[in-house]
Amino acid sequence: MDLHIKDKVFIITGGAKGIGEAISRTIAEEGGVPVIVGRSLEAGRQLAQSLRKKGHSALAIHKELGNAESCREVVEEVMATSGRIDGLVNNAGANDGIGLENGDPEAYLRSLEHNLHHYYFMAHYALPALKEARGAILNISSKTAITGQGGTSAYAAAKGAQLAFTREWAVELLPYSIRVNAIVPAEVMTPLYRKWIETFDEPEKRLKETEKNIPLGNRMTQSKEIADMAVFLLSERAAHITGQHLFVDGGYVHLDRSLSVIAMR
Ligand code: NAP
Repeated sequence: MDLHIKDKVFIITGGAKGIGEAISRTIAEEGGVPVIVGRSLEAGRQLAQSLRKKGHSALAIHKELGNAESCREVVEEVMATSGRIDGLVNNAGANDGIGLENGDPEAYLRSLEHNLHHYYFMAHYALPALKEARGAILNISSKTAITGQGGTSAYAAAKGAQLAFTREWAVELLPYSIRVNAIVPAEVMTPLYRKWIETFDEPEKRLKETEKNIPLGNRMTQSKEIADMAVFLLSERAAHITGQHLFVDGGYVHLDRSLSVIAMR
């Protein structure tokens, strides 16, 4: 299937690692131009270079996305270098464990800055270009918005708000034919997930227990599986899909997890 994204320009926040990296790679492989935005200078540069070496197009922008000004600068730089924006993937974020008992108001607000506000800022500043291109927005949320996790109020609130943004923006942007969707991942092995699992006493045991509870295949979702859905949703092949929350999670959120016993036979 040709996704028709050749030479189209897509911003991916947190695009250098994990799920974002897989989305950047898939966009490039499909002929699009990923603009890899994030705070990891080397990771962004190296990924863009390796994609260009393979004959693909790619750009890297080094930016911490904590405030509106940085987001405005990202959009200005993309417009100055590429002249268009066909899609925005709001993806950067981290499950930082700011809970009710183990947090405080300052840490809570800081976490929202790092996990939530830039989703709005990026969409706000990219909007004129997205209108021009009849582009698409994709928000990467998390199962924590639906299931809760415990001990991570700010992150869960940010992820829930991203699902609300998705419906709200899908409605607001109907007149411009800009589609807005969200992907809800559950358990994906990425640098962030690895860091999190290492906080447990027996990380490998914990990982095996988690995998047992993922109904389809008793395995983690792969970043590439999230990326394939992401790039489809960004493409005109998804022309009549908007306001959707898509769960790419092996049935983790919606199926009875005791089914894993059957799946393992
Ligand atoms: P990851 O491996 O840490 O990759 C995220 C990238 O985003 C990193 O390069 C990180 O930079 C960058 N980043 C994070 N916050 C940033 C900010 N405020 N400004 C600039 N760059 C920032 O994470 P991931 O696991 O791929 O997660 C990607 C998205 O998926 C997140 O929104 C996460 O909530 C969501 N998600 C992941 C899972 C999972 O199982 N992995 C499950 C549900 C939802 P540094 O590495 O330098 O910090």
